[in-house]
Amino acid sequence: MNFDPVFLLNGNLKNLSNLGIKKYYQKKCILKHLYRKGTLSNPEICKLTNLSSPSIHKLLNELIHENLVKDEGIGKSIGGRRPNLFGIDPEARFIIGISLGHQSSEVAVFNIKNQIINQIHTIDIHLHNSQAFIDKLYGFAMEIINRSGINMDKILAVGIGIPGLTDPASGSSYSHLNYSEKSVKELFEEKFDKPVFIDNDARVMALGEFAFGLAKRKSNVLCLNIGSGIGMGMILNGKLYQGNSGFAGEFGHIKIEEDGLLCMCGKRGCLETVASGLALERVAREDIGAGKITKIDELLMGDLSALSSEIIIKSAQRGDQYSIDLLAKIGEYLGKGLATLIHLFNPEAIIIGGKVASAENFITDSIQQTLNKYTIYQIKKETLIMTSQLGEMAGVLGAMALVMENVFEDVPASRMPV
Ligand SMILES: [Zn+2]
Repeated sequence: MNFDPVFLLNGNLKNLSNLGIKKYYQKKCILKHLYRKGTLSNPEICKLTNLSSPSIHKLLNELIHENLVKDEGIGKSIGGRRPNLFGIDPEARFIIGISLGHQSSEVAVFNIKNQIINQIHTIDIHLHNSQAFIDKLYGFAMEIINRSGINMDKILAVGIGIPGLTDPASGSSYSHLNYSEKSVKELFEEKFDKPVFIDNDARVMALGEFAFGLAKRKSNVLCLNIGSGIGMGMILNGKLYQGNSGFAGEFGHIKIEEDGLLCMCGKRGCLETVASGLALERVAREDIGAGKITKIDELLMGDLSALSSEIIIKSAQRGDQYSIDLLAKIGEYLGKGLATLIHLFNPEAIIIGGKVASAENFITDSIQQTLNKYTIYQIKKETLIMTSQLGEMAGVLGAMALVMENVFEDVPASRMPV
C-alpha cells in the first residue's frame, strides 16, 4: 500500500538509519505543531520542540523545498526584529472524509489546512453488506477526487465513520460490511491503495466536535449522535475514550423502559426505542394514524410516508403543540439517561448532535428540566447542554480529524524524541 513517506511510515522506520528516523520525527513534529497552530515563527517552534534555532531553520528550509511548508511572511514583533511566520502549504496533502449512513453516505475532500474542497457530496445508497456497496462508494469518491483535479499522490489517507459496533484497532465493524474475512479497513485500503482509519460514527463525530466544534479546548465532553439510532462519543481527560474492545458509548442501548419495545440489538426497552429519530417518527405515525390533531399533516400534504424527524421538528418550529410535546417527551427520556452519565462522568458539556439536534431548545429545555429533577445539583450545575453547530458537516469533519489524530499519533505531545 501507498504510505506517505513524510507523514506515515507505519513500521517502515526499520528501513531508515538512526539519522533518518531522527529527521522523520523532527520534521513530523514541526508539521504537527504547524497543523495544530496554523502559523508559527522559528522561535515559537524552538519553544515547542526543544530544538535549536539553526536546526529549525535547516528543517524548515527542507520542508519548504519539499513543498510541505510555506513562508507566510512577517509576523507581529515580540520585541526586536519581527520574525517570519511559517505554515503548512494547504495544497501539500489532501484527506478524504467519509461518513457512512444507513440510507445515504457523505464524502468530502479536505486540504491539510482542514478546508473543504468544493462541498460535501451525498450519495443515496443503502448501507448494504456487500462488496458492491464498497465498489459504488469508492467509485463515487474517485469521481469527486478526479473532478477536483487532485493528484492521488497527494492524498494522505482516508477517514471513515461507520454506524454500529466498530473496533478501530482491528479496523473491523461488527454491524456492517463484515461479509468477508477482511476487515472494513482492509477492504477500503485495497480500493484506495491508501491508509484508511475507521471508527464508530458517533465517536468520529465527537472527534469532529473536539477538533472543530463546541468541544474544542474542553477535556470532558459527551457527544450524542441522535439520528436513526442513538450513539455517543466520549472525550475524557482530553482523549477520545474507546473502551476495552472499542465499544464504549453505546448509550442508545441502556434500558429505560421495563418490557418496552423490541430494539434492533435484540433487547427490550432500550433508550433508542423511545428517544431516537426513528422512535420520533414511529410515535407520530401511530398518533396521526389514530386521528391525533397536529399541524404535521399540513407539511405532509396527505403523504404519511413522507413523515420524518425533520418534518416533526419543522412543525414544532411553526408552533404545532403536538410536535412540541413529542420532542419534549424525547428530551425527557434522554434527560433520564443523561442524569446517570452526569453522575458517572461529571462532564463539562453534553453536545447533542445528529439529525435531531436541529430541534435545539425544543429538546434541550426538557433535557434540562429532567436533569434538574434527577441529578445532584453540585454535580450538574456546571454541565452545559448544547446542540452541535457543525450540522451536516459533523460526520466528514470528524473523519478528517480521525485521520489527523492517527497521523500524528506517533509524535509525542510536546517534546519530541531526540
Ligand atoms: Zn438496544
